[in-house]
Amino acid sequence: LTSPLGLEALPSQRFTKVKRSTFGLNLMVVGESGLGKTTFMNTLFNTDLREEILPRNPQTTQTVKVQPSYYELVEEGVVLNLCVVDTPGFGDELNREHNLTPIMEYIDKQYEEYMAAERHPGFRKAIPDTRIHAVLYFIAPTGHGLKELDAKALKTLSKKVNVIPIIAKADTMTVEEKQSFKSILLRDLEDHSIKTFPSSYAEDVDGAEELLQHIPFSVIGSDSFTLVGDKKVRCRTYRWGVVEVENAEHSDFVYLRELLMSTCLHDLVETTHNVHYHQHRGDALRLMGR
Ligand code: GDP
Repeated sequence: LTSPLGLEALPSQRFTKVKRSTFGLNLMVVGESGLGKTTFMNTLFNTDLREEILPRNPQTTQTVKVQPSYYELVEEGVVLNLCVVDTPGFGDELNREHNLTPIMEYIDKQYEEYMAAERHPGFRKAIPDTRIHAVLYFIAPTGHGLKELDAKALKTLSKKVNVIPIIAKADTMTVEEKQSFKSILLRDLEDHSIKTFPSSYAEDVDGAEELLQHIPFSVIGSDSFTLVGDKKVRCRTYRWGVVEVENAEHSDFVYLRELLMSTCLHDLVETTHNVHYHQHRGDALRLMGR
């Protein structure tokens, strides 16, 4: 990819579509605290982009722990309205009061609001879409199987939203360890019948085949830079060397970014609407007895 957002890599038809209207992507990050979620989001949406934090609703930021931040990313005239929902401390062993409930409530609330807007004739044409298009689920680089807590959370989440499991802090594992950990995780995800994006939705996703072989993506986040030739790159520096975030030999960061920002950008939004939202809406209507 030549640009941070990779929007130029979109097929031309889609590119025109994006250019004509502003595009929105709502991402949620879930995982134990300290796994590098915040650092990773800063890395993913490089600050080289023109970034603007929009005003938040003071009521929501005070009352819920699950917190959305809004950004406007602009690249070559293409505007991507990005919402990143941070979920502090999930699964923190020392702090069990943080659990999946507020996260699921947030997800459901966005579906409910969309449903309400859909039923209101005045709003039909431009419903603000706050629904979560993907949950990036951070898994600790333990090398062992999926923890019970993670398995449960992934299972619950994957019934409601697109879930992309991610191995955090890839720089703490060797290539062999990463490979073996990936096999273990893939087996565990299958054993628990956990649906993940894009693998479980492959028929709906064009051009993702190549990316599939890197799943689950291992990532590195960093706030530091180094010079490689005359290029400034994000990295983590150790006594024994430098690990570059965007080097495909060091982590799957570039593949994940390509999936989110380019190859599957539309598919994430469409799957959210066609699969998850429709499921939620159907369940809700059945409950209401219609
Ligand atoms: P969060 O609680 O999940 O949001 O984690 P933070 O982003 O606050 O990061 C927690 C700590 O992990 C910080 O000291 C980061 O510098 C460090 N960290 C973040 N990403 C990485 C990574 O990819 N590799 C390593 N080794 N450390 C990281």
